[in-house]
Amino acid sequence: MITAIDPITQPEAMPDWRQSLRDAVTDPRELLALVGLPQLAEKLPASDAGFALKVPRGFIARMHQGDPNDPLLLQVLPQLAELDEVPGFRDDAVGDLDAVAGHGVLHKYEGRALLIAAGSCAVNCRYCFRRHFPYAEELAAAHAWRAAIDCLADDTSIREVILSGGDPLVLSTQKLTDLTEALRDLPHVIRLRIHSRLPVVLPERIDEAFCAWLSALPLQRVVVLHANHPGELDASVGAACVRLREAGATLLNQSVLLRGVNDDADALVELSERLFALGVLPYYLHQLDQVRGTAHFEVSDTRARELLGTLRARLPGYLVPRLVREVPGETGKRPL
Ligand SMILES: *Cc1c(COP(=O)(O)O)cnc(C)c1O
Ligand code: SF4
Repeated sequence: MITAIDPITQPEAMPDWRQSLRDAVTDPRELLALVGLPQLAEKLPASDAGFALKVPRGFIARMHQGDPNDPLLLQVLPQLAELDEVPGFRDDAVGDLDAVAGHGVLHKYEGRALLIAAGSCAVNCRYCFRRHFPYAEELAAAHAWRAAIDCLADDTSIREVILSGGDPLVLSTQKLTDLTEALRDLPHVIRLRIHSRLPVVLPERIDEAFCAWLSALPLQRVVVLHANHPGELDASVGAACVRLREAGATLLNQSVLLRGVNDDADALVELSERLFALGVLPYYLHQLDQVRGTAHFEVSDTRARELLGTLRARLPGYLVPRLVREVPGETGKRPL
């Protein structure tokens, strides 16, 4: 249980986030040694299937020693099962590769445009569609902001710009500033939303300079975190949430329903409770996108609905996330 969150955590006492990002563990053997499971090295796949292990040390510190089923470990450790070919699990499950071609803007839903602002992340989640998004990196780097901004400027129906990726918070605060300076010229855009896993996996990213940028924006601000299990939310995450809220952001969370990680009513109830204790409302619980190499994480729709029913029975309505699936071509996430 998180009982108290120290709101006066001094930003200057935090490690520099760029250093933490560079220090992330990328060798599966080192990760296994750090969590006291060196014997599992024998079970590692011979190749990482083109998607390297990457996990910040602060996130590893929240894993349990000697537990091969630790829900945080399972999200980042390459598994042999990733190499299985399972019918229906494709490279581009949500049909984004075509939509994004060119300028890095995805405009699929009314009033909201999603900007692929960065190609990389602070952590590589094994269940992610990004494992087969090879050119996202180049794309994010190559498209000038100008082309993306022009595309947003031309469509006055866009009220909200969503920074996504990859993870937009791997960009420097200066880059973010350049981007939002350009947004100033678009009077129809009134909200900025940031989709990021960094407040959870690398909370030191929410430093003084970042908060100064966020709080000075002449836009409404929404930050959608990504935590899947209550064990991800420690006091350092709590402190980052305090800073985000002080900078005027509304905080939401999205999770992915993952077999072996959080397909358990107790874990999901505790996740919602802890999120709310940090001032974060549960937003979405996503059914897995059917991406090649992730089938071992899949939870059936029947089981997912059953879990949702349990959450409805055990939690106040505002702590029950919306259970959704992304279906190509639809005008929003489809509720289950
Ligand atoms: C998920 C998503 C959004 C945001 O949808 P909300 O339901 O508003 O959270 C916007 N654009 C794209 C392309 C998306 O995939
Ligand atoms: S942080 Fe998000 S985008 Fe990046 S690998 Fe994890 S789930 Fe995918």
